[in-house]
Amino acid sequence: MLGFDFEEKRIKQEITKLGSKRILLQMPEGLKPKAPKLVKIIEKGGALAIISADPCYGACDIADSEAEGLGVDLIVHFGHAKMVKHESVHTIYVEARATVTLDKAVEHSLPLLSSYTSIGLATSVQHLQTLNIAREILTRAGKTVIIGNTGKIAYPGQVSGCNYSNAKSIANEVEAFLFVGGGMFHALGIALSTSKPTFIADPYDNRAYPINVEAQKILKQRFAIIQEAKNAKKIGIFVGLKPGQKHLDNALHMKELAEKNGKAAYLLAAREINPETLLEFPSIDAYVNTACPRVSLEATGKFQKPVLTINEFKVVCGESSWENMLKKGLFEN
Ligand code: SF4
Repeated sequence: MLGFDFEEKRIKQEITKLGSKRILLQMPEGLKPKAPKLVKIIEKGGALAIISADPCYGACDIADSEAEGLGVDLIVHFGHAKMVKHESVHTIYVEARATVTLDKAVEHSLPLLSSYTSIGLATSVQHLQTLNIAREILTRAGKTVIIGNTGKIAYPGQVSGCNYSNAKSIANEVEAFLFVGGGMFHALGIALSTSKPTFIADPYDNRAYPINVEAQKILKQRFAIIQEAKNAKKIGIFVGLKPGQKHLDNALHMKELAEKNGKAAYLLAAREINPETLLEFPSIDAYVNTACPRVSLEATGKFQKPVLTINEFKVVCGESSWENMLKKGLFEN
């Protein structure tokens, strides 16, 4: 299929090998329009395919309990690399690598990178196959290129919405980062996790641009939210119900921390955290989000009350300082 590699041949082979009879297809929003075509391909082979129409934001969100309820014996999860250690229903990952070329976008980044010699290179799973090409272009331009490899995420150089360990591991060795891929989401994560000048080479628009003004804007908002949360008396602590967002130990630690600081704390279990969820608890003054940290940052202006990441709440409670948190990054890993 155009634009992404859906690995139809591998999917068919896996289904035959496993003898799967009922399959749940799960994919993020941008890929869902391709789902009916995939159903046809699978059902030609005699298995029944069900499309998960629910939102799916990451590999943290494996629909295994839904699959169990539907009697599904195989989940095919598209668009992400494996993140959850043990799925309760057999799951195969189709990373949907992009077929777009990035040479021009990387070339456009060279004038922006002219004052830096050592560059950290990173990308999302969709563009991992292009990382070596980007490295070659930068090296030819006289740059020293470093790609992080911590083993804490599926591939060297890969970043995900909440895992910037590869970028953080090389932040002290590079002067700037280049993220190869579309949109600001992952590049913002790099800038916020490393405090380094960060640029995007976007192969969809064939352009390159910096992201640090946007990152600074987010940091200003987060600073204000932390100050506001210091006055909170009642804290709601979200525990995620999605398999890769369920961090009960972290939530219990946050409850203990809140109580030590004279704040009442309530544990709230949720699949989704959105402004409407908060409206149901008018007496709660601020929230800690132990599920998906990006929800706190992406929807800052939409939430009526502060919704803090774990690291931000440590600043509220005096367990860390703003400066130390910036060094560690807004995210946990
Ligand atoms: S927890 Fe959030 S940022 Fe991390 S993979 Fe899931 S949806 Fe993405």
